[in-house]
Amino acid sequence: MPSLEVISQDKQTMSVKLKGVPLQYANALRRICLNGVPVFAIDTVDIIENSSVLADEGVAHRLGMIPIHTDLSRFVEPSKCECKSESGCSNCRVMLTIDAEEGDTTRTITSTELKSEDEVVKPTSDKIPIVALAPGQRLKIEVYARLGRGTEHAKWNASNISTLTHTDKEGEYVLTVESTGALSPQQIILSGVDELSSRLEEFKEILVEIKTQ
Ligand SMILES: [Zn+2]
Repeated sequence: MPSLEVISQDKQTMSVKLKGVPLQYANALRRICLNGVPVFAIDTVDIIENSSVLADEGVAHRLGMIPIHTDLSRFVEPSKCECKSESGCSNCRVMLTIDAEEGDTTRTITSTELKSEDEVVKPTSDKIPIVALAPGQRLKIEVYARLGRGTEHAKWNASNISTLTHTDKEGEYVLTVESTGALSPQQIILSGVDELSSRLEEFKEILVEIKTQ
């Protein structure tokens, strides 16, 4: 019987021992934990006003790389949402805004000024710098975050690092996952196991279909 045993765990990193799992499944799980578990990232950026020295694309790029705390229980990926709408709905996207007025001195706008309409889905840290504003400059934006997967773009990677190491024993591996902060490492591994088993299930169904043809 395959088994999974927790070796170590903290807020960001978790290591589990996989026993009785074929190497290709263990490897598939490692990849899914890296880029196959959906997390939120900022995707659509509407710049209403940007008089900073950073171009609009630069602002959009920096916003895209901010890890966003993710709640998988209340949201679905747009491709699986019933709204079937390109603009999305409250089940598949979250709006965040920045309205940074000019100050008396140059100051750095950080992720703390990115206000979310959702209590949970918001930047994992308040301290991520976005842009510097000098006196007379202003940044006003509306952005949408949505669930996505790292296979589409690295900004949706669930983990910074996901590694598989061999132990001395045959058929025994150690999977170590370091989260970006969007999900806990435990959520990533559990979602990864779910994702892998549903993929294997689909694969089995395809095999059955082929056989019965
Ligand atoms: Zn929707």
